[in-house]
Amino acid sequence: HKRTCMCRPLNIPRTKPTPEVLNLLKDLQLTDDNLKQYMKLLMTDIRKGLARATHPTSIVKCYPTYIQDLPTGRETGKYLALDLGGTNFRVLVIELEKNHFEMTSRTFVIPQDKMVGSGKDLFDHVAACLHVFIKEQKLEQECLPLGFTYSFPLVQEALNKGIIERWTKGFKCDDVLGRDVVQLLQDSLVRRGIQKNVKIQAVINDTAGTLMSCAWKSPYCRIGLIVGTGTNACYVEKLTNAEMFNGPNKGSGVVLINCEWGAFGDDGTLNFIRTPEDIQIDETSINPGKQIHEKMISGMYMGELVRLLILRCVKARLLFGGRDSVDLNQKDKFQTKYVSEIEAQKPGNHDRCKAILENLGMQNLSDQDLQNVRFICECVSRRAAHMCAAGLSTLIKKTEEKRITIGIDGSVYRHHPYFHYLMMEKMKVLVKPGVVFDLMLSEDGSGRGAALTAASASSSIY
Ligand code: BGC
Ligand code: MG
Repeated sequence: HKRTCMCRPLNIPRTKPTPEVLNLLKDLQLTDDNLKQYMKLLMTDIRKGLARATHPTSIVKCYPTYIQDLPTGRETGKYLALDLGGTNFRVLVIELEKNHFEMTSRTFVIPQDKMVGSGKDLFDHVAACLHVFIKEQKLEQECLPLGFTYSFPLVQEALNKGIIERWTKGFKCDDVLGRDVVQLLQDSLVRRGIQKNVKIQAVINDTAGTLMSCAWKSPYCRIGLIVGTGTNACYVEKLTNAEMFNGPNKGSGVVLINCEWGAFGDDGTLNFIRTPEDIQIDETSINPGKQIHEKMISGMYMGELVRLLILRCVKARLLFGGRDSVDLNQKDKFQTKYVSEIEAQKPGNHDRCKAILENLGMQNLSDQDLQNVRFICECVSRRAAHMCAAGLSTLIKKTEEKRITIGIDGSVYRHHPYFHYLMMEKMKVLVKPGVVFDLMLSEDGSGRGAALTAASASSSIY
């Protein structure tokens, strides 16, 4: 698999913009000094999140999960899993066998009104989809353990108990803030009449699922990263450092920490690298002032950042001869997937870029225009990848490991043609010499990771 081969040298293409555009977009280019500064700040915030004295006012919360054991590869059994909080909502059934697994899944749509309505409606919808799936898979006669991948900030009190802290990524069901997400789902299962088919064993973050799923085959996996609709990371921390951990020490001496690094910068810490467009994205979002780091990186915002930067160049009359269009002026009209599509073309080939812009109502595009737009895409994806690289380098340092594998998932990491290589390239500069690391695409952490965690909760091997 291409993403596990670190040795392949790769030229990351860099498009040449006009000198004026290059100059106008200078603030998107983070220097190594910027990134080192970022690393120091993130390290400080992680320590604040971990320590009991500073946790209440901390920004990067570093919630302990109740996962203390990495998978052994010996987990077995049949599990249901839910994956809520990414690009898609999915229901899965997974059969774990020794070093092998099988999985069937189905994607469901979450209607917009359920994303921003009452919690009851959202979880009732989740239960209804689960019900459809159970019937489809002919599981009505079974009672299966369920792992719930719930990818929002959660104050975990047990493997199967977590208090909703905030919603992110366009979800906003604020009436259930402070409530236990497992209880909310359980209530919906009861209303739906399918509580007899399901036993909710564990609720886990997608980053934890990614780590678990990667650790299932890679003995050195200690970090999980998501760069998808949102962004976040988790890592294996010593129990002695995880001061907020209240559970029993199961003997491993470690616990997974859900950093919730999407919130980094919510107190202004990242202002030294934010651009006017970052500020605008935040101000016009459903959660202003929140998830500042996430808004500079993740897929929910990447296309919109490109659109706003295109407009910056248009206003300076450096693009399209100063012309724009109705669509170009509409929020979210430039989709994040366009960034990957445009950058996936061979340098010099602007077919896709041209088609996308024509679709947005732009005509008579010069080659230089197209090249400049591609350059804008590169600036935005590059900055995101470099920030992730700096974030991971910080976590590697925190773990004090000399050899480490990082499991990664998410639509941006998967679909962007160079994101992986951009991260690698920058991490080689930022990680201390002598530390060996690799980045691995973690195949389906949300499903398998949830099943593995549910297995650890219900299986006799623990
Ligand atoms: C959430 C995290 C999640 C991340 C990636 C963020 O918005 O707060 O819990 O891990 O998105 O899905
Ligand atoms: Mg996902």
